[in-house]
Amino acid sequence: MNEEEKVPQVYEEYLTLCRSIKYTEAADAGGAAADLFAGLRAPDPVCRSRAWGLLCGAWSRHRPAFASLLARACGKKSTDVQARFGLDPAPLLAAVGDTKNILHRALRRKAARIGADGFRFCDIWARVPNAGNTSAMPLAAALALLGDMLEKHLEGGKAFVEGISAGQRLHLEVQTVDCPHCCTPVPGGPVHVYMPVRFKDVRPCDLPSLAHELGHAMHCDLLDKLAPGKPISVVFLETFSQLLEGMVWLELCDGAEFRDVREDMLLDRLTEETLDLLLFPALLEFEGRMIHSARQGALPLEAVEEAYREIFSRWFGVSPEGTWFWMRTKSLYDPRWPFGDLTYLLGRMVSLELIQRIRTRGKMSRAEYCKAVEDTLSSDFSGYRLKQGRTSPMQAADWKEILQPVRDMFAEE
Ligand SMILES: [Zn+2]
Repeated sequence: MNEEEKVPQVYEEYLTLCRSIKYTEAADAGGAAADLFAGLRAPDPVCRSRAWGLLCGAWSRHRPAFASLLARACGKKSTDVQARFGLDPAPLLAAVGDTKNILHRALRRKAARIGADGFRFCDIWARVPNAGNTSAMPLAAALALLGDMLEKHLEGGKAFVEGISAGQRLHLEVQTVDCPHCCTPVPGGPVHVYMPVRFKDVRPCDLPSLAHELGHAMHCDLLDKLAPGKPISVVFLETFSQLLEGMVWLELCDGAEFRDVREDMLLDRLTEETLDLLLFPALLEFEGRMIHSARQGALPLEAVEEAYREIFSRWFGVSPEGTWFWMRTKSLYDPRWPFGDLTYLLGRMVSLELIQRIRTRGKMSRAEYCKAVEDTLSSDFSGYRLKQGRTSPMQAADWKEILQPVRDMFAEE
């Protein structure tokens, strides 16, 4: 893919339409949107419904315009998923579909815990009250604990965290909305990690986010040696941050001292699983259907919404009436990136596979970690599989095995 490639007209029009969306008359769109997303995380169910209603309402007014842009974008998309990703996604979607029922049951447990009658789309982002709120510790103590947790599963984990502290590569900064991130303050220098000020005191439930950002730093440090100056492949952008995050989850779930809050923390984590393993697959299926329909001719709003309702009801187990994912999902409107969400899903599957490897074979050596990173330098998924010594195409059963950590986490006790 040529990065210089011109932004397609239809995608430009999509972005312009998105920017024109106003949540309230007076406030500027950006600020108001931040407040509304905070509302979606609120403990009060009424608050969440209100935020959701305002968000969806603002987008829904433009449904016909979005539908016509969608038809144009999909009409221009190539459907050769196999060529782009080096695999057929159908067995992956089938395996992910098999974990659906476990996630639905977990979503209902979460709904009960956060004062809703059953799963509602507006509750996807809701925080479970007091999940792991106990025993907040100062950042320095949290880093020491994190070093020990990582060392249990990854050789050199402790030394890495100590190096981050010693090198003053972790910073707390004022962030209006939580947005932990990494960047390079000195051009050509190492990546630094930036966390919101509230990480002055770290709760157990915040440890996975801290581990995630440190995972980016660890990944970048190694890439600086292996492939200096080269960009990270999109498919594996999040794989190694999710790996460190996954290690901390293993520890939190198994750790006796956190056992009392285990279920709450798991239900809090369910947001990510819902997005990765229900929303992305639903969107991929929807995109496939839209591309197919757009090639058959006109794609009226009614047809878009009917397909959306059918596919989303199947993935989420409830009707998506009044939801707006099909309008908000940028990748659907960019003809350059058909099935863009598959990159996230594939990267996530690789991180789960690495976690499963640790669970079954024990602590990962530094050499094993380096090899895993080295093997992902190519952006092609089948290339990665080959380097891992797998020559046969991935079957649904292979993907299903990789999803075992998710099944174990959310299965009822
Ligand atoms: Zn990340």
